[in-house]
Amino acid sequence: MPKITVIGSNMYELTTYTDHLPHRGETIEAQDFAEGFGGKGANQAVAAARLGADVTLLTVVGNDYFGRQQQQNYTDNHIHSAGILVGHQGSGVASIFVESTGANRILIVTRANNELTPAVIDAHLDLIKNTQLIVLQQEINLVTNYHVIEMANKYHIPVMLNPAPANLELDINYVTKVTFFTPNEHELATITGLPTYTQPEIKAAGQTLIDAGVQNLFITQGRHGVLWMDQHHSEQIAALPVMPVDTTGAGDAFAGSFAYYYTAGAPIGTAIKLANQYAAISVTRYGTQTAYPTKYEMRKMDL
Ligand code: ATP
Repeated sequence: MPKITVIGSNMYELTTYTDHLPHRGETIEAQDFAEGFGGKGANQAVAAARLGADVTLLTVVGNDYFGRQQQQNYTDNHIHSAGILVGHQGSGVASIFVESTGANRILIVTRANNELTPAVIDAHLDLIKNTQLIVLQQEINLVTNYHVIEMANKYHIPVMLNPAPANLELDINYVTKVTFFTPNEHELATITGLPTYTQPEIKAAGQTLIDAGVQNLFITQGRHGVLWMDQHHSEQIAALPVMPVDTTGAGDAFAGSFAYYYTAGAPIGTAIKLANQYAAISVTRYGTQTAYPTKYEMRKMDL
């Protein structure tokens, strides 16, 4: 069983579906409401686990109802409990407002996620040493990510960093120390300060990262798939053509499933192709984690 450690965030999602949003000072009645599980770290862990990986998630949930719900969700998805820590404050929450047009607005409050500090990493070094791949995102403090990257390098464990949400402060010196770096085109623009509206612009911006020493760059581009660049080549790997209904969490579906396929032994190009398929299926379904297929569902599809 491929062994993966995901270190990152969890969020409890509170989603309100409404015809339109209220103006300041106004109260209106909305049409529907749903609770759900999210957070980029948790999403990526769930995607990898549903495919059959042996996943440890190092994350801090809150000491509240939301935190207990999250713990149950990790148990239900067969994620190891060793890294699920309970913090001294409430859970990270995402208040999501979806209009009938499908447009969404999201406010996140990180709360207990801020307790995932370098000291916590040091107290759980066994989770870094005993794994095939470490998966990181940017919903926790950058200094924690930097410390994980240093420790992973020390123990020769490869790291994948998904730089979402974009952070202008990201230090390129750490980016060159990870094996896989996976921005979407908007994050690429933030990181490089270059335009990424057209394919030539995306490739040129990506090349500046390769020239700076980035090892494997996967630029995820929604329905256009992924541009994979390394020190020797660049290759566009097509997306699976589908009719999307909800693309929320597609990037996490790609990252989590790539982690699974790669650690299961697929060559990088094949793992990207399979992860594109996995993420494409997820955009044909509503929700974030609820949209992620299991290995049985993937096997049944004739892709
Ligand atoms: P999000 O922030 O919503 O999680 P993202 O912007 O980080 O997503 P995208 O680049 O939009 O990530 O999508 C990630 C991957 O999901 C793509 O590389 C592709 O494989 C798949 N994907 C997304 N949208 C589509 C689509 N419309 N059709 C097919 N595949 C898609």
